[in-house]
This record gives sequence, structure tokens and C-alpha cells, in this order.
Amino acid sequence: MAESREAALRCTRDEHGAERLRDDGTRTETSVEQKKVESSVGAIFTAVKNHQEAIQLVLERELHSHYLRKGLQQLSESYECLDASRPWLCYWIVHSLTLLDEPIPESVASSVCQFLARCQAPSGGFGGGPCQQPHLAPTYAAVNALCTIGTEEAYDVINREKLLEFLCSLKQPNGSFNMHVGGEVDVRSAYCAATVASLTNIVTPKLFEGTAEWIARCQFWEGGIGGVPGMEAHGGYTFCGLAALVILKKVHLLDMKSLLRWVAFRQMRFEGGFQGRCNKLVDGCYSFWQAGLMPLIHRMLHAEGDPALSLTNWMFDQKALQEYILLCCQCPSGGLLDKPGKSRDFYHTCYCLSGLSIAQHFGGGEILHETVIGVPENSLKPTHPVYNIVPDKVGHAVVYFMQKAVPDAKEFKRN
Ligand SMILES: [Zn+2]
Repeated sequence: MAESREAALRCTRDEHGAERLRDDGTRTETSVEQKKVESSVGAIFTAVKNHQEAIQLVLERELHSHYLRKGLQQLSESYECLDASRPWLCYWIVHSLTLLDEPIPESVASSVCQFLARCQAPSGGFGGGPCQQPHLAPTYAAVNALCTIGTEEAYDVINREKLLEFLCSLKQPNGSFNMHVGGEVDVRSAYCAATVASLTNIVTPKLFEGTAEWIARCQFWEGGIGGVPGMEAHGGYTFCGLAALVILKKVHLLDMKSLLRWVAFRQMRFEGGFQGRCNKLVDGCYSFWQAGLMPLIHRMLHAEGDPALSLTNWMFDQKALQEYILLCCQCPSGGLLDKPGKSRDFYHTCYCLSGLSIAQHFGGGEILHETVIGVPENSLKPTHPVYNIVPDKVGHAVVYFMQKAVPDAKEFKRN
């Protein structure tokens, strides 16, 4: 009995219904929306409960791969609005295929490299498409896509000297970075700058002066990190802030326990997935932005020698998250999505799969522990929780660029 109970999915247990929102008889806009989501997710859970013997949880690898491969060749008109995010589409697709362990044909990889080369600005950094203004977000996406492809052709697309000049031109006296010249400042830019600089070995002593201290000021009283100092804590910004501090080796500037408490409470009790902010709805993409924080927090507390830490599990319900992604976020024709009723897209495909990978693989180095829900073939490749690139691709890129000297920065010549 105990064994079959252990094997049963969390969402099929009788006591699971008690996890639904109790609004104490006070209807608000938020509680109405939450109940709608619980009802659509609950309908799926009930169907699973009624057909438990017949249902196996399967990640539809073939369908997802087909959807992704098609996206690399030709996109539908609905993607027109992402014309300024084309390096992102390259990254979301190549990373998703890599997590699925699907090889990318050499010729396709090479045309992605050539396309990204056309997005690189003469002044350094990458724009959202050919001839567009360079911007830190597509620069991050392009560098991640190129490192995921991981060939010499891919690495050599990146003009490191110009990339460093571009980063220097965005640096602000208070340690933060603009997203583009004259653009907005928020925690995303610090993360994008720190990841591309650390991967391509262009970190100079002054480049990140004051950056960690500026990020730490963005930790909100809730425990998570907001876009700028004083703003509400948010999953995406919290991931960017913490991962940047890991790269800059300054995580001690954060109140880690308060951050841990905030993110742990962002996992939804009934749905099993994560919300991005307090009182918001579950969304598949936060499977990575929120759950991806857990390996970073774990590593930090482990380094401090915290004796209460598990050696087999992250500090969230890994099975519940997998159940949510596998049952509620797979589009029947391939691709993954935010929540039932929403349509699939490459962004949610990438971050649902990345979150699923985090939930399946605990640890690193000598300590590894797998928790794979459903058939064993559901297991994805692990992902590096700082860069969200598979770990051996991070290793290759770092080794490749370490052989090159850090460019001589004509730093802050504008200041
Ligand atoms: Zn989303």
C-alpha cells in the first residue's frame, strides 16, 4: 500500500483537492482568475485520476522535435511581432533540441551561425535582426545559441573586442547597465552582460565594478529581486539577479534565506507549477525562472556548510512540477505552453523543457540524483543553472575562449 501510494501521482491523491485556493468567502479579481485556472487544471487531473491504469506520463519528444525543427526553417506569420527577437528564436530552438538530445544537422547549424553573424552590429553586440540596433537581450540570446551550437564557426562569429566595447558603452556609474545605448536599466542587463562576458572571456577588472552591489539593492522586502531598486519581486528578475551574482562571486550580498522562502512559496499548491509573482497565476515558463533558482541557492548554502541541506533533492516539489509540465503544458501537436487553453510558442517550449530538466536532475560533480516522473525516456539532458545551456557546451565554450587573451579595453573612454 505504502509503495503504490508513493508511486501514485501527487495530483491523483484524495487529499490533493484540499490544496485548492480558499478565498474565505471574499471574491476578488485575483481569486476568480485563480479558480478558473484551478478548474481547467483540475479537469485534467481528474481525467488522469479516473484512468490511472491506462495513463502513462510521456514527454512527446518526437512531436516537440518536429515542431522545433520546423521553426528553424520557416516561421508562420504569427511570429512577425518577434522580428526584433530573432536571435532569441534561434536560442530557444537550438537549446530545446539540445535538451531533447536531438542533433542539429551541420548545414542547419552553419546557417544559424551565418544568420547570427548578420545580426552582429559593427559597433559590437547583436541586434534583434540584421541591421538592427545592438541590444543586450538579443546579444545574450545570440551568444547562448552560438555556444550551444559549439563549433569553431559558431565561436568565431563573436567579435569579442567589439563586444567588450559595447558592454563598456552601456555601463553606468552606479554599476548597472543600459539594455542598449540610451535604453532602460534593469537587472536583466546586468545578467546578460555578466553571462556573455564570462562565457567569452572578456571580463576586465573594471567592467563589473559596482554591479553586484547595485543588484543587491534590487532585493525587495518580499525576498525576491525586482527589476530596479524598490520594485516588486519577480521570477525573471530574481533569476537574472541571482545568476549574475553567482558569476560575479558576490551572492553573499543577498539575504539568501529570505530569497529561498520567497521562491519556495511561488510553487502553486494545487497546480504544481510556479507563478512569477505573489498572487499571480501559474505559468510554464516560470518552471525555469523560479525552479532554476533552487540549484543556485542550494550551491550557495552548501558552500556555507548548511547541515540541513538534502543531498538528493532541490528545495521544491520536483515531482509536482514535472506533473504540471507533462500533463498541462504539452500541446497535442508538439511544443509546450504557459497553461491549459494557451497556445504553444518557442519561448514556453524552451523554458518548460529547461524547468523539466532542472526538476529531473539534482546535483552536479560527484553527487547526482535523478527524479524522472513517467517513462524513463522522459529524461532530458541537464542544463547549467547559470547560463541555461547544457553543461558540456558551457565547458567547451569556456575552454575555447580561455585560450584567447582578454581584449585590451579602451574602457569607459566616453566617461
Ligand atoms: Zn510564460
